[in-house]
Amino acid sequence: MLQVNDINVYYGAIHAIKGVSFEVHQGEIVTLIGANGAGKSTILQTVSGLLRSRTGSVTFLGENIGGVPAHRLVQRGLAHVPEGRRIFLQMTVEENLEMGAFTQSPAGVPADLAHVFELFPRLQERRRQVAGTLSGGEQQMLAMGRALMSHPKLLMLDEPSMGLAPILVEQIFEIIRALHKAGTTILLVEQNAQMALSVADRAYVLETGRIALSGTGKELAESDAIRKAYLGG
Ligand code: ATP
Repeated sequence: MLQVNDINVYYGAIHAIKGVSFEVHQGEIVTLIGANGAGKSTILQTVSGLLRSRTGSVTFLGENIGGVPAHRLVQRGLAHVPEGRRIFLQMTVEENLEMGAFTQSPAGVPADLAHVFELFPRLQERRRQVAGTLSGGEQQMLAMGRALMSHPKLLMLDEPSMGLAPILVEQIFEIIRALHKAGTTILLVEQNAQMALSVADRAYVLETGRIALSGTGKELAESDAIRKAYLGG
């Protein structure tokens, strides 16, 4: 579904991503893990058209998507839930969800809203609440719900567990499992390596802009090097 082939991404003179290649197949959960600053968010932003790679290519559903603007990629089925959520703080929960449906025909929106509310009952209770007053966990649910309104074929999640209490992290990962079971392909970026590896079919470990290791979620969760570096020994 997604092929990232030898991309190099720069911020001015800073060479942030150094020849990274990986792929995501239909129906998989693939995770990119790595320390702060390893380049995880930069990779997602490059895939979703917010940043451009200087070399290499990104192919989505068989087409090279280099240079295609982000909103066009949403139309093609690629949704990105960015780090920090970036919801519309002044709008209500329901309005935020409707914004996520901008690529869809209005006739289908009520059914899509109902689907999101089924996944996240908390959002239904708070549908008229202004998003800026939601808790961190609720904002994460809203950001994920908004992305789902676009009927993504590939859902990219950037640190969905960030800043959340353990019980909420569990809930968010439950939802990730449910979405996967329902057939959504997911590319998950996480600092919480343990949780990410527990749901992932396959994983890539990023170190300062390069892929240092890859394998199945299970292999990496059991690897000594990964346990020492990311799972607290
Ligand atoms: P984190 O887990 O802390 O979010 P990350 O793995 O997602 O980290 P990135 O945010 O992709 O890492 O950053 C990769 C590198 O690029 C870092 O060294 C970072 O300082 C640098 N970087 C990111 N954004 C910019 C920017 N706008 N300008 C300059 N350098 C940047």
